[in-house]
Amino acid sequence: MSDEIKTNLSTQQKICPNCGVKGKIVDGATVKSMLSLSLRLVRNVTYRFCSTRDCPVVYFTEDSKQLFSTADIRERVYQKEPESNDVLICYCFQHTLGEIRQKVAQSDESTVLEDINEGIRMEQCACDWRNPQGSCCLGNISRFIQDIQSQV
Ligand SMILES: [Zn+2]
Repeated sequence: MSDEIKTNLSTQQKICPNCGVKGKIVDGATVKSMLSLSLRLVRNVTYRFCSTRDCPVVYFTEDSKQLFSTADIRERVYQKEPESNDVLICYCFQHTLGEIRQKVAQSDESTVLEDINEGIRMEQCACDWRNPQGSCCLGNISRFIQDIQSQV
């Protein structure tokens, strides 16, 4: 096999089989926490998270043999429905997109960030079990706040 083909194969394994966008690796614990299906389905392979808005796939395996979609997940995934107000963006401390839109309108968004930072400081966060992406929400929230502010 040529090096070029090998490179293509390894790239393909990182991309969502449905939308073709590269997914981020998530811990097996995150997949287990998030599935609304029997965990007998979970295999000891690497899972990736697809954050593409219009793609229903949430997790896929690097061997592309298994997909879990939004219907298989216990939480609504904010990346898949960023226009909704009642979907969470901070899953540990239960902050919704609507709440953040409202706080930004009142120039009070710092209170949300302070609440999350205080929760992290108190070691009350559990992003790997609560957040479908398996990692901290703060980067998403900063981007979301900037997006709202840039639209004003
Ligand atoms: Zn996808």
